[in-house]
Amino acid sequence: MSKVVYYLSPSSFCFGVKRSIDQLNTIIIQHPGEKIFCIHALVHNPKVTKEFEAKGVSFVEDIDAVEDTHAIIILSAHGTNRKMIDEAQAKYKAVYNLECPFVTKIYTEVDNLLKKWISKIVYIGKENHQEGKNVIAYIRYRGGEVSICEKQEDIKNILYTTEEEIWVLAQTTLNFAYVQEMIASIKSTYPHAQMPALSDVCRATYERQTVVLQHLNAFDTFIVIGGKESNNTKELYTIWVQNGKQSFYGESLEDILQYPEAELFAHERVAITGGASTPIEDIKAVVAYYTSHGYEAKILELS
Ligand code: SF4
Repeated sequence: MSKVVYYLSPSSFCFGVKRSIDQLNTIIIQHPGEKIFCIHALVHNPKVTKEFEAKGVSFVEDIDAVEDTHAIIILSAHGTNRKMIDEAQAKYKAVYNLECPFVTKIYTEVDNLLKKWISKIVYIGKENHQEGKNVIAYIRYRGGEVSICEKQEDIKNILYTTEEEIWVLAQTTLNFAYVQEMIASIKSTYPHAQMPALSDVCRATYERQTVVLQHLNAFDTFIVIGGKESNNTKELYTIWVQNGKQSFYGESLEDILQYPEAELFAHERVAITGGASTPIEDIKAVVAYYTSHGYEAKILELS
């Protein structure tokens, strides 16, 4: 049997990441010589961050760290609490919100719920992730209540009564199947729970997970490339680990090379994917590493 390395498609940049990167490149051209500050990483990939730093963009976690009111402020693809956007627009020369439209969908859902006086929200997501942190802060800023459920065991801590109308929103980059399970569990306790007709888990996340699941049994080794802060990348890795597969996770080929060769080449069928913020070159470098060791490269598409 010949040795094959499979590139799983889709992987690498999603629509929202491409859009944010293109927009920031345009802003850099439009503001030559001006100070540009991005609040948090534009997308969760250190290589992308370094490339923008080389173009003169500074990255800070806290907008208050930007003292120069003539600065250009960039808000990341992960979304920003609207309170901070309003304050930034009043203070700085220009503010560009490069949030992904799929994250905007969640802010729109929050606004629409609160307009209808529905203020009891369950948020399935991670409070310490940039997207979740900002959505949660915004719900509270608007006077809504939010119970955060990252895991099944958090459901018992929801403070609403089972008679109340509650709405369930979710982070865009979670495991799609897990969110469905969480929603089913919440509904079993809260029969009046409702959720958006279209899942909050975005299409890019869903497709990257689905192609992995479709080919789960075809491989013995799985490699995922992406930023350590990238939640959708972590979710891809978790799928394989939870299914007992030999799995390697790195931000680039250099990280993968830290694993023993005996493990990397232990199997003849290897699958490689990357998160929605992983540059394609970083995935190709790992594929090329395997082809240089006698593996034939093939692509496996989502069916
Ligand atoms: S992973 Fe989804 S939510 Fe995040 S930037 Fe890409 S399309 Fe948008």
